[in-house]
Amino acid sequence: MTELDYYEALEVSKTCTASELKKSYRKLAMKYHPDRNPDNKEAEETFKYLSQAYEVLKDKDKRAIYDQYGKAGLEGQGRGGFGGGGQNMDDIMDMFNSMFGGGGGRQRRDPNQKYSLDFEMELTLKFNEAIFGCEKKVNIHYKVACDDCDGTGAEDGELKTCDYCNGQGQVVMKQGFMSFAQTCPQCHGEGQSIATKCGSCSGRGFHEEPDTITINIPAGVDSGNRLRAQGYGNRAKNGQRGDLYLTFDVREDEHFHRDGSNVYIEVPVFFTQAILGETITIPSLDGELDLNLKLGTKDKEHFIFKDEGIPDVHSGTKGNLIAQVNIVYPKKLNDEQKETLEKLQESFGVESKPHSSTFDNAFSKVKGWFSK
Ligand SMILES: [Zn+2]
Ligand SMILES: [Zn+2]
Repeated sequence: MTELDYYEALEVSKTCTASELKKSYRKLAMKYHPDRNPDNKEAEETFKYLSQAYEVLKDKDKRAIYDQYGKAGLEGQGRGGFGGGGQNMDDIMDMFNSMFGGGGGRQRRDPNQKYSLDFEMELTLKFNEAIFGCEKKVNIHYKVACDDCDGTGAEDGELKTCDYCNGQGQVVMKQGFMSFAQTCPQCHGEGQSIATKCGSCSGRGFHEEPDTITINIPAGVDSGNRLRAQGYGNRAKNGQRGDLYLTFDVREDEHFHRDGSNVYIEVPVFFTQAILGETITIPSLDGELDLNLKLGTKDKEHFIFKDEGIPDVHSGTKGNLIAQVNIVYPKKLNDEQKETLEKLQESFGVESKPHSSTFDNAFSKVKGWFSK
């Protein structure tokens, strides 16, 4: 019996977002739940398998391992298949980081391949493209093995024994009593080097193909996040394609300032609006919001709008929008305005003449304005 791939089982695509995954899992789990299917062994098995698949895919680290090595990778076995002996703990760490965020690149390499199958690119996104997600056309150049030399880089595919390592692929370094075997720097462990460079590819072993691909950018990505575009990497001799890793560089917005999933906006408020506690309209990420200034709002005061921020790229949970009040005072007053304000001040029992005996600390700011 062939087992369904976890993604197939959950009826989602390999590039699905966390919320798509959750939605699909809930739907299927409901359908196959044992309570709904009494005495149905098959439904029970399916239900168990779905839970198992969801447990893995909802965890971004496990999902990254599963994507690369399948179930065997999660059982801590069978890291073989590609790469060979050169992998170590660093490669494992790369896998953990490879879905989103984190640094380092996973390099899959066929020993007969003159280039790695995966490659990286930086992609610049506008603020709105990143927070809402988008479909983005990306121009890429991927490597394809040279046909004329079969990807060897050597004319007629002719290789000679590497003279640096005498075809061993390794050189031995001595340090005191110890000796270390190292991969030959000239033939990179192949034991063979090019006799005459292939004229078609100048000895590189590949040509570059231009392509325009369409990538679905999930909502909420941020600068430095990485997305794996599976199957858009370089092409091996056998036709297999590696993956493209896109690292995002998100442009700043003129008005909104992003901090993770929270977004800040500075709102200019005329001093009388703040005193009167007016309700003003401010821009939100996808429309407008009413900001109810309470009586006596202070400068730099924060008003928090829950769930009006940016969705988390994994969970889809939205952050908050934080409006910071920036109280604006008039730079100049005409006679009429001055008179009105003096009257207003007197109505609060504050003398408007400088050095008056009723001068009170609480009004020092107001007073400061009138004496200018
Ligand atoms: Zn060639
Ligand atoms: Zn060599």
